[in-house]
Amino acid sequence: MLKFGNETNKTLLYILIAFAFSVAVRMIWVYQFSGYEAFMFNGQFMINTNDGYYFAEGARDILSGVNQKNDLSPITSAVSQLTAFFAAILPFSFESVILYMPVFLSSLVVVPIILIAKNLDNLELGFIAALLACIGWSYYNRTMVGYYDTDMLNIVLPMFLLWSIVWAIKTNQDRYLIITALDILIYRWWYPASYALEFSFFALILVYVLVYDRKNLYNYKLLALMMFAMLMVDGYIRVALVLGVFFLLRQERFQKYVYHIFAASVILFLATGGVEPIWFRLKGYVFKDLVSAGAQGLNLHFFTVMQTVREAGSIPFSEFANRISGHVLTFILSLIGFIYLAYRHKIMLFALPMIGLGFLAMVGGLRFTIYAVPVLAFGIAFLITEISLLMPNKKIKYLSMAVLTLAVLFPNIRHVESYKVPTVFSAEEVNTLAQLKQKADREDYVIAWWDYGYPIRYYADVKTLVDGGKHSGEVNFPVSFMLTNPQDVSAKMARLDVEFTERNFKSPKAFTNIEQMSTEYGFDDTNDFLLSLQTQMKLPEKTREIYFYLPFKMLNIYPTVGAFSNIDLMSGKAMKEPFFFMSRNFSDTQDTIELGRGVSINKKDQTLKMGQQIVPIRRFTKTFYDAGMHLKKNTQLMNFNSNISVIYMSNYNTFLVVDEKTYNSLYIQLMVLEEYDASLYEKIIATPHAKVYKLKI
Ligand code: MN
Repeated sequence: MLKFGNETNKTLLYILIAFAFSVAVRMIWVYQFSGYEAFMFNGQFMINTNDGYYFAEGARDILSGVNQKNDLSPITSAVSQLTAFFAAILPFSFESVILYMPVFLSSLVVVPIILIAKNLDNLELGFIAALLACIGWSYYNRTMVGYYDTDMLNIVLPMFLLWSIVWAIKTNQDRYLIITALDILIYRWWYPASYALEFSFFALILVYVLVYDRKNLYNYKLLALMMFAMLMVDGYIRVALVLGVFFLLRQERFQKYVYHIFAASVILFLATGGVEPIWFRLKGYVFKDLVSAGAQGLNLHFFTVMQTVREAGSIPFSEFANRISGHVLTFILSLIGFIYLAYRHKIMLFALPMIGLGFLAMVGGLRFTIYAVPVLAFGIAFLITEISLLMPNKKIKYLSMAVLTLAVLFPNIRHVESYKVPTVFSAEEVNTLAQLKQKADREDYVIAWWDYGYPIRYYADVKTLVDGGKHSGEVNFPVSFMLTNPQDVSAKMARLDVEFTERNFKSPKAFTNIEQMSTEYGFDDTNDFLLSLQTQMKLPEKTREIYFYLPFKMLNIYPTVGAFSNIDLMSGKAMKEPFFFMSRNFSDTQDTIELGRGVSINKKDQTLKMGQQIVPIRRFTKTFYDAGMHLKKNTQLMNFNSNISVIYMSNYNTFLVVDEKTYNSLYIQLMVLEEYDASLYEKIIATPHAKVYKLKI
C-alpha cells in the first residue's frame, strides 16, 4: 500500500476540497433553474454559449461517423474530439456531457495553483488562491455550467505550464522537462492561439537564464524542449520530436551536445516560421496600405462586423477590477500582494505573462481579464497568509485566514448568484429545429442570421451560409439582403448564394459570391445586378433544398441585420436607412396609444405622431393567434399616400412602425404576417417562436 507523507495528504485534501467547492458553486445556476422547461431539451439543460454549438456539431459528427465535405463541422478540433471521447465512455447523455464539461474541466485549475504553492512551502496560500481563482468573476463567467467552449481549459493549461516551469527551474528534475513540453503540446492542440502565451513564457525563461543562470545546462534543455514543442509543424511531428529529443537529453553521452540541440531547436523554430505570427501582426500595422492594395475586379465595399460591435476599448477601471478579483479593493490588495509575493519568492515572476495578458483587457477588451484571475488570486492569498502569521496563536491564525478568505470570496459568490444567464435557445425554438431535422437533408441549407448559424447546424443537422465564425461583411451581405428585401428577389438571391457557395467549395474563386454573380450575369455595377433580380432571370441549377429559419427574436436585431445590405457596394456608402420602430412598452390612453420615445398613434384621425411630425398611417394591421395557434390578421387600409404602416402583434405585446421597404421585407412578410407567395415558398413549420419556409425555386 502507498503511504503518503503528511504533506502529500494535506495537498490532496486541499485539492479535493477546492475542486468540490468549484463544482458546487457552478451548480448554483442549475439549482436556480431546476425544473425550468424553457431551458431544457431532451430532458437536460441546453448550453448558454452560442459558439459551443460549433464544437457540439463536430462532436456529434465524430460520434455518428459522419464526415461530410464542406459542412464546416469541426470534427478535427480538440474540443469536439475530447467531447466525443467523454460522450463515448461516460454513461451520460450527450447533452449532459457538453453541459457539465466546463464545470469539471475548469475546476481543475485548482490543481496547478495548489501545486505551485506547495513549491513555495505554503499550502494554505495555494488553497486560498485556488478557492478564489476557481470562482473569480470573469473565470466563472466563461467556465460556468453550459459555457461549453475552449475557455474550460484555456486557463487550466497555462497554469499547469506555469507549475511545471516553476518546478523545473526550482528542482532541475528531468521529469519537468517533459511535462513542460507535453503541456505546450496539449495547450496548442486545445487552443491554437495559445502561441502568444507560450512564446512569452519561453522569452521570460530565456531572459532569466541569460541574466542569472547562464552556466546551468538544464536550462538549455528546458528551452530546447519548449522550442521543439512550439515549432510551426504538425502536432504529431512535434510529439515525436519532443519525445526523441527528451530521450537524447537524458543520456550522459549527449550532455556535451546540449547547446547544439538548443541551437538546432531555435533554427528549426525560425525555419518553420515560428516568428511568422508576430511578423504577420507587425506587417498588418506597418504596411497596412500595401496589404490592401492588391484588390482587383469590381473593388466592392462591404459592411464590417466591427461597425456593429460597440467600441471595446476604455473599460471602466471598476469593471476591470471586478472581473479579475470580484471587488476593486480585493483587486488593489491582490496587486500589492502579488508584488510582495514576487519579492519574497522571485520564482513567481514567471507568472508575469498571465498578468500581462490579463491587463491587455484595458485595451483589447474584457475577454482577456480571465488570464489575470488565478495569478492575482495568489497575491491576495499571500497577504492573507502573511497577516495570519501575525496572530498570537494557531487557533486565531486559522480563524483570521478563514474570515479573510470568506470576505474575499463573498463578492464573487454574490456575482454567481446574480448571473442568471439564459440558454442560447428556448425549448420552443429548438423543437422547431428538431422538427426541421426530420424534414431537411444534411446537404440542405437553412438561411438565417449568423447568430443562429451554429445552433441551427447542431439541432437541425443542415448547412448554413453564415455562422459565429463566418460572418464577414461579404458573406453577410446576401443573407442580410434576403431577409430585408421583398420575397421574390430574396428567393432568387437565396438560390444564387447557396449554389455559388457550393460551387466555390469545389473550385474556389478569388472573388466574393456577390461579385461573381454580378460579373457572370454581365454587370460591371453590382447595383444594376441587384436591380436585375426584379426581372426574369435564369437561375443556377438547383442542387438541394433551401429553408428559411425566421425566429421571432430576430425582430430585436432587424435594423442591424439590414445594415449589412443597406450599403452601396460600389461606393461603400450607406444608403438611406429604412424605417423600423418597435415598442413593447406602450400605454393606451383615451385617444392615443403612446408607444414611447415620442411616438404615438392618434386613434381618432388615424395618424402617427413622431416627435413634432404628424404622418398619416398607410395601413394598420393587427395579428393574433386563434385557438388552434394559427396566425390571423386584420388589416385596415387607411391612407395610400403614406409610407408608414403600423403592425400590432397582439400576442407578442409588440407594436411595429415600419416604412414600405421594411413592411415588404421577407422577414416581416413571412415571420410577422405569414403573407407568403405560394409559388415561391412553402410554409413548413409555424410556431409563435419561429417559422420555417421552404424555397420552391
Ligand atoms: Mn453537417
